[in-house]
Amino acid sequence: MPLAAAMAGGARLARHGALRALDALLPPQCLACDAPVLEQGALCAACFRGLHLIVPPFCLHCGLPFEHEGQGEQGRCLACVAEPPPFARARAAFSYNESVARLVLPLKHGDRTELALPLARHMARAGAELLAEADLLVPVPLHRRRLFLRRYNQSALLALRLGRIAGRPVLPDALRRVRATPSLGSLGAEGRRAALHGAIAASPRAVSRIQGRRVLLVDDVLTSGATAEACSAALLAAGALRVEVLAVARVPDPRLPGTRLP
Ligand SMILES: [Zn+2]
Ligand SMILES: [Zn+2]
Repeated sequence: MPLAAAMAGGARLARHGALRALDALLPPQCLACDAPVLEQGALCAACFRGLHLIVPPFCLHCGLPFEHEGQGEQGRCLACVAEPPPFARARAAFSYNESVARLVLPLKHGDRTELALPLARHMARAGAELLAEADLLVPVPLHRRRLFLRRYNQSALLALRLGRIAGRPVLPDALRRVRATPSLGSLGAEGRRAALHGAIAASPRAVSRIQGRRVLLVDDVLTSGATAEACSAALLAAGALRVEVLAVARVPDPRLPGTRLP
């Protein structure tokens, strides 16, 4: 390495070290706001209260939270009965709301990569059964252009943390966007499905690792489920034995008017 580059690298390292030392001196702050907390990486009581953990009863297939026991048909919501999604089961740690948005959006758009680990811990709790049966973890892919702009794929970060927590292999590049899709935020369920048609495929190099495996797809937020469905279909087309889905949060009911989608 040329001397100048080595010196610049050294300076960067020293600066990084100094920042870490400074971090250690500052009182720890809540992950979602600036309230003081007891330890680094924790949430304050107010922010934690704002999170809605998904607990039973919920749809056994897609994980949609139920208002009461006995809702749906034989444990499944009406949408899953009418048109079963291609994945076997989907689970999420939280119902999507403003409090979850304060954790997920900075991870997605704000370089707050340190949020991946605490979020993955909540996913590991909500998806313990799915993780126990998974052979392989695969994140929802970003298109290369978006990956270039954001520099990292938040779902891949979550998958890598989850893989370490659960002791499961992770294949970050198993899926890829074969064409760019418009931002799905403003589209309804049908529009999302149409926009994603044929947009996601297994990468040829990953096929031998996917074939015959039980794959757990890792996503940040399940909204209409259209992205998870497109990824599941691509994994099944590549020979996956079964696909399940684990997300940080899901929109309780994407048909509700006024739900602000991520
Ligand atoms: Zn807080
Ligand atoms: Zn369902």
